[in-house]
Amino acid sequence: MTTIDPLPPLRDVIERHELSARKSLGQNFLLDLNLTAKIARQAGDLSQCDVLEIGPGPGGLTRGLLSEGARKVLAIEKDARCLPALDEIAQAYPNRLHVIEGDALGLDPLAHLTPPIRVASNLPYNVGTELLIRWLTPKQWPPYWQSLTLMFQREVAQRIVAEPGSKAYGRLALLAQWRCDARIVINLPPEAFSPPPKVSSAVVHLTALSEPRFPADFKTLERLVATAFNQRRKMLRSSLKSVSPDIEDHLRAAGLKSTERAEQIPLEGFCALAREVAKS
Ligand code: SAM
Repeated sequence: MTTIDPLPPLRDVIERHELSARKSLGQNFLLDLNLTAKIARQAGDLSQCDVLEIGPGPGGLTRGLLSEGARKVLAIEKDARCLPALDEIAQAYPNRLHVIEGDALGLDPLAHLTPPIRVASNLPYNVGTELLIRWLTPKQWPPYWQSLTLMFQREVAQRIVAEPGSKAYGRLALLAQWRCDARIVINLPPEAFSPPPKVSSAVVHLTALSEPRFPADFKTLERLVATAFNQRRKMLRSSLKSVSPDIEDHLRAAGLKSTERAEQIPLEGFCALAREVAKS
């Protein structure tokens, strides 16, 4: 018996189903169900929500989400070895867990979800950033999800919440903070996982804003940010030369100094510059 549900402890589940962790699948499992319930609570009140979970593995976070009252969990898992363990959870929570075997990068989960939708995952490190960028750049805003509660390597989490002037500040911070509130809610040492990864981890909670923090055309903003941070140590007048022959005029009109570097420019400045560039 565990503290959160009547199912067996995760160590027993992993042993019984022979779920030795595979590095190629980014498998570092959380075994402490009190911790997975704590992570689930960071996702907010789930009782009226469908929750999308990528990579449930043996089901530690899945059990946390269900015991914390998620209306339904849709879990996408690439490793077929985990399915029997997940089926036991589905039986303990009738009609509340739906598991799809497959690659989260190649599946569209929307057909299986009913709004309101939240995302909560201990992401596989090899596809975590790519999934986040997809969630942050949908065709339409607001997106289909209300919030993302995601475990990353701490270094990636710091890049998401980074402020101007810091080493971690760049494309990921600007992309995330333009249309979301983003904060680190839990820090975890390697020992929280089995097997322990080489680096520390952190859970980031992102809430979708109903509209962008500052107006800007997404494509123009994306191009400016990517180009500016591609040569982050250079002055903007030279790093952004390829964007427009009149870049110095645009920088002035946006209230920015052409001698500043990308990492000094706040989100508001990039948005103002995107508006000037889009005008021309
Ligand atoms: N959620 C579990 C936990 O917290 O203990 C496992 C997390 S583990 C870091 C990542 C999980 O994602 C593994 O179960 C792995 O098999 C799965 N995975 C890896 N790549 C995937 C992909 N492309 N699509 C879906 N699942 C994937």
